[in-house]
Amino acid sequence: MNNIKKPIVIVGSGFGGVNAALHFRKNNPDFSILVIDKKTQFEFKPLLYEVFSDEIKSWEVNPSFESIYSNSGITFIRNYVKLIDFDKKFLTLEDDLKVQFEYLVLSTGSSPNDFSIRGVREYCSFFNTNKDQLNLKKRLDKNIPAGKSNKIFIIGAGPSGVELSCKVTDLYKSKFEVNIVEKTSEILNNSKIFNKEEAEKTIKQKNINLMKNYSVFEINDEQILLSNNSNQIEKSPYFEVIWTAGIKPNLPEFNQQIQKINNKILINSNLQLQDYPNIFVIGDISQLENNNSNPVTAQVAMQQGEHVALNLKLLINNEKLLPFKFIDNGEMMSLGIGEASISGLGLTFSGKLAYDLRRIIYASKMPKIGKSLKSTTSWFLEKKSIFKGIL
Ligand SMILES: Cc1cc2nc3c(=O)[nH]c(=O)nc-3n(C[C@H](O)[C@H](O)[C@H](O)COP(=O)(O)OP(=O)(O)OC[C@H]3O[C@@H](n4cnc5c(N)ncnc54)[C@H](O)[C@@H]3O)c2cc1C
Repeated sequence: MNNIKKPIVIVGSGFGGVNAALHFRKNNPDFSILVIDKKTQFEFKPLLYEVFSDEIKSWEVNPSFESIYSNSGITFIRNYVKLIDFDKKFLTLEDDLKVQFEYLVLSTGSSPNDFSIRGVREYCSFFNTNKDQLNLKKRLDKNIPAGKSNKIFIIGAGPSGVELSCKVTDLYKSKFEVNIVEKTSEILNNSKIFNKEEAEKTIKQKNINLMKNYSVFEINDEQILLSNNSNQIEKSPYFEVIWTAGIKPNLPEFNQQIQKINNKILINSNLQLQDYPNIFVIGDISQLENNNSNPVTAQVAMQQGEHVALNLKLLINNEKLLPFKFIDNGEMMSLGIGEASISGLGLTFSGKLAYDLRRIIYASKMPKIGKSLKSTTSWFLEKKSIFKGIL
């Protein structure tokens, strides 16, 4: 393999970044790899609901980057990347330190999008990080002051809104009235039919109030203002509003103009930035050219991370790169305490079996670590080859 002078730098150590780093290292032990993340721990977001409900401990799904990269020969630094210069091949960290790179993998993920709706930033809770789930738990654990509404509004009936509403209902039973607000006429617009039907049944069984065709107009410190199908505004007091209605890419500043679609970075089928073959962009922040869109999921980010590791090697060796093809291995959904729904590779499961399977499958997806979800479910994992194909 050709030698390179400066390191391969990976910015963002989530699903895309960790997989790119570990897969590249596995097959190329002689290259210098530097991973930079603003956090100290990996966040396994698909299991955030179970951390919230205390079915899984946070340490099981938030391993430190130190433990993930120890003895791997990969250097990890905790820092925030604020600016990237693609032409001069350097990035600037929050303390103005500059880092040069030969090749760059950018995988900085996404955060909640408030769509500039008044009051969302000030008055809503979010559910995107471990810190968010801790904050939400603290707020919901408080007693309801006399005269205050017991209504919770969860905004958005995508996977996050539906999964969270089921856990909140199970955890707080009769304390709150749980409402899901959805601006279209359907829940889980991009999900598999089986999971959608299971979720609809569960929402009914749990008496969660589903408000379809409503969108949030404004939120203030006392009321949520919702606009209905006929554009009339309905007001309601609330105890808590939880925003799960959309995400936007986390992007540092760039010294060059680059092409974006809906603020996501446009990439070619080899996952490279247009005009910069030494830069790869993966995960939630990327958009494939020619309107080829992949779901915005951990599954895609992980597969892209693995693919980048392969293409990086080909690029360094001046060989022809391979286009990325997403393999849809299915979809899993948490539907309350001890319950889930799975649809993948022609198989469908729901209930307790699906809950156990979901946990096993996710355990097998955890990055290489010592004490973690892997060890606590080790007896399950011995059987994981049975489920090898799914997710
Ligand atoms: C509650 C929840 C549940 C989910 N459930 C599922 C599910 O069941 N199945 C599924 O497939 N997907 C699920 N997802 C989506 C999935 O988590 C994301 O699609 C996935 O994390 C994207 O991977 P990524 O590598 O692009 O970004 P991330 O995994 O978010 O990683 C981005 C990393 O970049 C770091 N970073 C960001 N900006 C900077 C910067 N400027 N400098 C340094 N570091 C930076 C962040 O700290 C983070 O570690 C869920 C998401 C949420 C929030």
